[in-house]
Amino acid sequence: MEKTHDKVWNSCLDIIKDIVEWQHYKTWFEPIRPVALKDKVLTIQVPSQFFFEYLEEHYVNLLAKTLKRELGKEARLEYRIMVDSGNGKDKPLTMDIPGNGYKTFNNNEMDFPLVINNPVKNPFVIPGLKKMQIDSQLNPIYTFDMFVEGDCNRVSRRAGKTVAEKPGATSFNPLVIYGGVGLGKTHLAQAIGNDVKRVHPNKVVLYVSSEKFINQFQDHSRNNAINDFIHFYQLIDVLIIDDVQFFNRAEKSQDAFFAIFNHLHQSGKQLILTSDKPPKDLEGVQERLLSRFRWGLSADIQVPDYETRIEILEKKMRNDGLEMPKEVVKYIAYNIQSNVRELEGALISLLAQSSLNKREIDLDLAKKVLRNFVKTSSKEITIDTIQKMVCDYFDVPYDKLLQKTRKREIVQARQITMYLAKIFTKNSLKTIGEHFGGRDHTTVIHSCQTVKDLMDTDNMFRESVMELQQKVQLAAM
Ligand code: ADP
Ligand code: MG
Repeated sequence: MEKTHDKVWNSCLDIIKDIVEWQHYKTWFEPIRPVALKDKVLTIQVPSQFFFEYLEEHYVNLLAKTLKRELGKEARLEYRIMVDSGNGKDKPLTMDIPGNGYKTFNNNEMDFPLVINNPVKNPFVIPGLKKMQIDSQLNPIYTFDMFVEGDCNRVSRRAGKTVAEKPGATSFNPLVIYGGVGLGKTHLAQAIGNDVKRVHPNKVVLYVSSEKFINQFQDHSRNNAINDFIHFYQLIDVLIIDDVQFFNRAEKSQDAFFAIFNHLHQSGKQLILTSDKPPKDLEGVQERLLSRFRWGLSADIQVPDYETRIEILEKKMRNDGLEMPKEVVKYIAYNIQSNVRELEGALISLLAQSSLNKREIDLDLAKKVLRNFVKTSSKEITIDTIQKMVCDYFDVPYDKLLQKTRKREIVQARQITMYLAKIFTKNSLKTIGEHFGGRDHTTVIHSCQTVKDLMDTDNMFRESVMELQQKVQLAAM
């Protein structure tokens, strides 16, 4: 039986629906209309040039694979772009463009499972953006469920819960969460954002680190587009800015933030900020901003006590379907006291060791691993070693890692390598840069920052980095 364009497209959508996050599906796939099918070429109509580019950039893999599944390996996609809707009088003006991304597809890729590219990272550079199109940049793994409450964080967590229920409508505006590194500020701030999205699906939430905010501002400033920048941020209902202490280096960005803050606050929108110190100790941040931070609630997160540490470990284990003797859990909780990130790190190392050596987790193994974990690595790890590990992991040729290529996989592999080199070796940024075909230290800083940002927002990426981190850690034992 002859397949129609509607049928083919609906079958594609059935698959896509299961893969793409609901919000993205609604934004990027529902508006598409299939218009023709001829000689294995499916034409779909999209609302704008931007829309077309977005699909090509972010979903070309997915579209290619689903379509080939429906129509066989000759399948091609063509876009019909609405240039002018015609206002009901004239025929709409459209333009047909073949899907570019297709050229790069060869047929044996059909066998791979469907993978999709990451959602847009920096949506606001596009002027005239509609609210629906703003990706919140939240990582869905950070939820309240996964955030264990203890004396150390009770006030912050409960304030966060309240804010999530009634964003903008409580006296906790802004909500400032502060505390030391690895204590759960990012997790909690994102949990609030995720909860808002769950309870109030129409609210526009945006998570951004202050560094990213500053970079975006500076880009716009260079392009004389500060108004676009501010306008974009004024569309947000719940704005989460992580690590505001980094504003200290950016006077002009603070001015922009001040304007945005005022606008949002006056319009009853919610602001959530995190900081590594209490607002009063934030050096280099303008007094007028600090005084606004005091309008709401500043709540701290402290180091978790022993009981809470045990609970956190047990929660993580349950979540991952893992088991280990209680005495081991106690041993870890007792010995790792600094922060939750290290607690997690210890758990991961222990699991890695156990599976690598095919050995049950017991107290002996825990002692061995923690000894290595607490102490800095006993074996010297070199940049070369890390480079080789990353190349192996991503299947990237070693020489490509050093060359000047903008291919995304390679750029990311390179950034991760720099990040790991920074953590695991004692080399200076300059030396690290030199190991990558003579790049300078600012490139290394930028790479490390990009990796951190991506880890906060992109699950798959985070998992890759964590896995690599484990591998390097093990090599250091
Ligand atoms: P910060 O932003 O304060 O440096 P993060 O939010 O990145 O810290 O937290 C570090 C890690 O510890 C994250 O993986 C987070 O999920 C975990 N974590 C922190 N606090 C808790 C908690 N109370 N319950 C469960 N996990 C936690
Ligand atoms: Mg953080």
